[in-house]
Amino acid sequence: MSNHLNLPARKRIALVAHDGCKDDLLDWAQHNREELSRHQLFGTGGTGTLIAKATGLKVERFLSGPLGGDQQIGAAISTHELDILIFFWDPLEAQPHDPDVKALLRLAVLHNIPTASNRSTADFLITSHLFDQEYERQVEDYGAVLRRTQEELIEDLVEDDDDD
Ligand code: PGA
Repeated sequence: MSNHLNLPARKRIALVAHDGCKDDLLDWAQHNREELSRHQLFGTGGTGTLIAKATGLKVERFLSGPLGGDQQIGAAISTHELDILIFFWDPLEAQPHDPDVKALLRLAVLHNIPTASNRSTADFLITSHLFDQEYERQVEDYGAVLRRTQEELIEDLVEDDDDD
């Protein structure tokens, strides 16, 4: 079973870049400043500060990534408070918060959020006609799946009791 959840025309965009990729994301954000100015921007501490400085746009900031910012962004995706994730993670450098990075990427897939991990994907995303339009996002009704599992577990318990 799946639900339809609308992504609004004015997107809430999370911007995150590891240190080795920050220049790349800053350059991308400056290049796409006009399009980004029509949306609401969020970022982890370091990335958000740099993008706000480089573009002059307002960027709401979470904690720095290694201090919990990636987890905050994952939580905001899970509660449908963010619509797009632009996350330039470094393929050549291990991070102290690698488990958080993995968790964030997992939640973005789970909640069917458009996600770009490199510049060409970010270019394709931002030039899509859907970027400025409302979009009906299909999301599996995990609540129903969980309820079914719980009901099955309760049924098994009742059957076990009856057997005793
Ligand atoms: P930062 O964190 O933007 O605070 O540097 C990014 C990250 O490593 O997730």
